[in-house]
Amino acid sequence: MSRENVIPAGFGKEFYEEIVSQLHDGLYIVDRDRVIRFWNRAAELITGFSAGEVVGRTCSSNILTHVDTEGNNLCTGNCPLSDVISGGQNREDEVFLHHKAGHRVPVSVRVSPLKNEKGEVVGAVELFTDLREKEAVRIRLAELEKLAMIDNLTQIPNRRFMEKEILGRIAEKDRLAVPFGVLFMDIDHFKKFNDTYGHDTGDEVLKFVARTLADNSRPFDVCGRWGGEEFVGVIRNADPDELVRVAERFRMLIENSYLANNGEKLCVTISIGATSHIDGESSESLLKRADSLLYKSKESGRNRVTQG
Ligand code: GH3
Ligand code: MG
Ligand code: MG
Repeated sequence: MSRENVIPAGFGKEFYEEIVSQLHDGLYIVDRDRVIRFWNRAAELITGFSAGEVVGRTCSSNILTHVDTEGNNLCTGNCPLSDVISGGQNREDEVFLHHKAGHRVPVSVRVSPLKNEKGEVVGAVELFTDLREKEAVRIRLAELEKLAMIDNLTQIPNRRFMEKEILGRIAEKDRLAVPFGVLFMDIDHFKKFNDTYGHDTGDEVLKFVARTLADNSRPFDVCGRWGGEEFVGVIRNADPDELVRVAERFRMLIENSYLANNGEKLCVTISIGATSHIDGESSESLLKRADSLLYKSKESGRNRVTQG
């Protein structure tokens, strides 16, 4: 079987149009004069401009008015598209584009030249990804790093941060009656895993477990590394049923994650203790209860959630 990465023959124009319209990334195509010829659905969603509003206009005509991190207007100066059209090279940038409603949207843009059969540049295609969520995460991480609240190995909040987070949630509950709970999570039989596959592979597992927890948290929840192979999640505005749903999702996602190792899938499972904060109790008492519920999950077979 050929392993060459080529677009298979026999797929018509509609096929490609369908793929492009399904993309989550914004995509637009300009001709040599930088007149916009094509504008996909995601471009409409990210910028607020419909295809009808932009197709046929030049990209420099005050539509997107990209600015770079220094605030320079790229459309009148160092335009990535004209650069690519004249130079024929790919280009990548992080810029801020203008949304129709007025605000600035952080995006990463990748621009590639479009060439005809003779190899002449006839235009360019720009693909842009909405960075709004990633940007928020990046800023938050940078701030936490400054405050020494990031765990070095896994790059998620450390115990110091989580302790403060719990105190913050208790204060919020006192003032505003926003309920919250904690999840105490511990990797099962991790000593055996290290003994079998080595400490370095164990570290890789800690990293993917941490990433899975952090990347699949709701925006207002936080998961951190408590120490060793233990993680704590602070789950905000959740009644006991919601708390268990969040815990079950984490448990299921970890169970279905793996490191590929010479054709073998290296998996781990986690046990979880889940409990909601009771009015007036201290963070120590809350965590102690979560820890003993975790112990119950271990006793009753591991890879499970115990709530109390
Ligand atoms: P249980 O299911 O009861 O939790 O069993 P366990 O083996 O996971 O628990 P135990 O407390 O006996 O062992 C924890 C192991 O976690 C032992 C230690 O080597 C490992 N560990 C702790 N921190 C790290 C780390 O930073 N990297 C690696 N690779 N292993 C770690
Ligand atoms: Mg442990
Ligand atoms: Mg363990």
